[in-house]
Amino acid sequence: MAVAQVACIHCQQTINVAKNGKAETGHQRYRCKDCNKSFQPEYGYDGNLHSTHEKIIKMTMNGSGVRDIGRVLEISPTTVLACLKNSTRQQ
Ligand SMILES: [Zn+2]
Repeated sequence: MAVAQVACIHCQQTINVAKNGKAETGHQRYRCKDCNKSFQPEYGYDGNLHSTHEKIIKMTMNGSGVRDIGRVLEISPTTVLACLKNSTRQQ
């Protein structure tokens, strides 16, 4: 049986990561038992990537607007707004 090492995108832990069902797109989802967050290594839409969220925050801090960010990253302006709304909630 092949075992794939999947690192948690939130805390980078590889030991306590377990499979957690599949997304609607068919991608495998995982849950980290250390930070208790679920994630999937591959997404069908770039707006859901963790790296995209970081880019949105950086571009906002440098003065880019919501529509500008959506156009440059090729994601929906609604996704940009949702990311910014959730980023303020986490802080
Ligand atoms: Zn984790």
